[in-house]
Amino acid sequence: MKKETICIQSGWKPKKGEPRVLPIYQSTTFKYETSEQMGKLFDLEESGYFYTRLQNPTNDFVAQKICELEGGVAAMLTSSGQAANYYAVFNICEAGGHVIMSSTVYGGTFNLLTVTMKKMGIECTVVDPDASYEELAKAFKENTKCVLAETIANPALVVLDIEKFAKVAHDHNVPLIVDNTFATPINCNPFEWGADIVTHSTTKYMDGHAMSVGGAIVDSGNFDWSKYPDKFPGLCYPDDSYHGVTYTEKFGKGAYITKATVQLMRDLGSIQAPQNAFLLNVGLETLPLRMERHCSNALAVAKWLESHEKVAWVNYPGLESSKYHDLAQKYMPKGTCGVISFGLKGGREAASDMMDKLKLAAIVTHVADARTCVLHPASHTHRQMTDEQLVEAGVAPDLIRFSVGIEHVDDIIADLAQALEAVK
Ligand code: PLP
Repeated sequence: MKKETICIQSGWKPKKGEPRVLPIYQSTTFKYETSEQMGKLFDLEESGYFYTRLQNPTNDFVAQKICELEGGVAAMLTSSGQAANYYAVFNICEAGGHVIMSSTVYGGTFNLLTVTMKKMGIECTVVDPDASYEELAKAFKENTKCVLAETIANPALVVLDIEKFAKVAHDHNVPLIVDNTFATPINCNPFEWGADIVTHSTTKYMDGHAMSVGGAIVDSGNFDWSKYPDKFPGLCYPDDSYHGVTYTEKFGKGAYITKATVQLMRDLGSIQAPQNAFLLNVGLETLPLRMERHCSNALAVAKWLESHEKVAWVNYPGLESSKYHDLAQKYMPKGTCGVISFGLKGGREAASDMMDKLKLAAIVTHVADARTCVLHPASHTHRQMTDEQLVEAGVAPDLIRFSVGIEHVDDIIADLAQALEAVK
């Protein structure tokens, strides 16, 4: 099926007499008839639902849809995009391990890896996403477990050379994890270019309406963990917390997602609420239509901004002037995303002045919403970063992140025009 059809038809497939619309399984727990039946679930001898902290049918039907959209073999939902990236890494990297991460990842991911996971004994080397293969290769160590980067970085809008990153990761026997939040599976499938695991903040375009925070992890099934048992002991050697089950032996291509579900979700509990999964599913139904409009609106707004006398610079991978135009054409020929960044000739002060004058575009933390919204990362999402880290992350102090919605483009441009007119 084409993606437009998957978005509508996949996941929940009702049988005779069942509801047409995905039901919300609003239940913490699930009933069994014998004690033995329940015991088998706890031994991973049989699959089935028993407690919503680990798994819930509503979530799984939605995860199945996202899995198909990405072309993976297994997927799971998490309570947030943060939890998705945390689980994706922690599932294969414990204390004493090392991760390589692109410097331009979202500020929350940057903190997670360089501050919080550091406290857990995980070391992170930050690399320039534009570095050559040879430069990237220098970052690998004996204990490196994975490489993490974003298809389109938030908010630097750096387009990842996925093939280059996949090759250098695979040459060092580790998987590439790609956060595909901004591109969405509608515009890019990182697995087609060699990525092994994909993560999402479903809070963004997938939900699309700023209603529910959530995340997802999808496994391509392509990385052969069992070739490197000493590098990935958690997957390849017995798990004492399940009477010695070995995930790769028992679950084959489902090993990675099964471990993250039955071990990490059991112990850390970052499950997505079934109610949120239901809302996410509604969002997914219109994702292809919305992405098309987000991209065409964003390109028109970016071109308009580029020709405005008060605008110093515009960064949008869809623009021919963008350094990332060629990579965007290669990996995302249908369009990139609805997010633009730009700076004003008046600098940082003019940026906040202009933002205050916008009427249609709202100042919110959120991004990738049906409604146009705006943010100044250096003062908001990235304010915990030093100036040096801001530069590394591709976030200039005057950078305005403008998330173009799906309103009529003339109204979005008119709003920007009146705000820019009022700025000195
Ligand atoms: N990944 C990317 C690319 C993001 O933009 C964000 C949030 O903005 C996250 C992950 C974190 O997701 P969440 O806010 O759903 O925890």
